[in-house]
Amino acid sequence: MDSFNLENLVRNNIRKMRPYSSARHEFSGEATVFLDANENALGSPLRFAVSRDSSPLNRYPDPLQHRLKEQIARIKGISPSRIFLGNGSDEAIDLLFRIFCEPVTDNVIICPPTYGMYEVCADINNVKVKEVPLQSDYQLDLEAIAGSIDVFTKLIFICSPNNPTGNSIYREDIELLLNNFDGIVVVDEAYINYARQRSFLPELTEYPNLVVLQTFSKAWGLAGLRLGMAFASEEVIHYFNKVKYPYNLGEHTQALALEALQQMEQINDWTRQTVEQREWLAKQLAELPVTKHVYPSDANFLLVAMDNADKLFSYLTDTGIIVRNRSKVILCDNSLRITVGTPEENQQLLNALKAYNA
Ligand SMILES: *Cc1c(COP(=O)(O)O)cnc(C)c1O
Repeated sequence: MDSFNLENLVRNNIRKMRPYSSARHEFSGEATVFLDANENALGSPLRFAVSRDSSPLNRYPDPLQHRLKEQIARIKGISPSRIFLGNGSDEAIDLLFRIFCEPVTDNVIICPPTYGMYEVCADINNVKVKEVPLQSDYQLDLEAIAGSIDVFTKLIFICSPNNPTGNSIYREDIELLLNNFDGIVVVDEAYINYARQRSFLPELTEYPNLVVLQTFSKAWGLAGLRLGMAFASEEVIHYFNKVKYPYNLGEHTQALALEALQQMEQINDWTRQTVEQREWLAKQLAELPVTKHVYPSDANFLLVAMDNADKLFSYLTDTGIIVRNRSKVILCDNSLRITVGTPEENQQLLNALKAYNA
């Protein structure tokens, strides 16, 4: 990537501004008396620390989450300086707009059907969205993407494995974009733990325009905690840190995530079970009379084309089983997105579908 120039890509106001400097930014060394941040020195009503070695909650948390980043860096085999942590990956998505996209003039490219937050964040930031639909095999339409890129295109969002279709996007296609697009290529890997395809994290050293998103909400089983990760060049992470709220992650989030990271084996075991159940459920669903097609999945859900998705959706709802009706979404006619549940839940779903009379 010879023509990539980060400083030119970042919005003028963001490049020039001076970031907020908190008390904890200005002093983070060793001391015993902290009278610098207007905290309540007497204590916190939540006296019991979140975990064995977390700080008391009357104190502000580490604004840059050093300990947590160090642990994540070790697990991912990447430098802590290449990591941003946010209140869900949704925070990272929003910050990408605020760092790179000038409202009204700039635009981004998304490839529907895909994750809804890219467009929502674009709308909130008043940034134009160019939609380049996936092809019928749910892969990128590279020619159409190339045709949509103009000098105001700052971000291209690629979701792989893609939500709601479940497939991974061809690696070579993403590499082609990384090699030829002067803006930022965002690869959203929320479901990467369930995928056959490798993560793009090792490619960070090669591509200064790559941003990889991952999350604790899916395989890590912590959707309620709200913790997302962005991985990028040190320079891009610098801008994330410049624009984010000073204390964007609470002490509880940092401490609990550190504890969760100790339980990798449990997570790997759950991931294996989910993949196994996904393959089993796909086979079972394919044999039902109401099923037209079960799409191959690299995620923890299945996209299933049905005879009459709307009717089936209401029927399932009546039996107390909620799936996601995607039938109004482009290229997802009559399709339901079904999350892989526990073995019992999956069996319950199958029983309900078997009892369905169209
Ligand atoms: C679930 C999901 C996320 C996760 O978002 P969080 O804010 O981290 O919970 C991100 N991207 C995609 C495509 C998802 O499906």
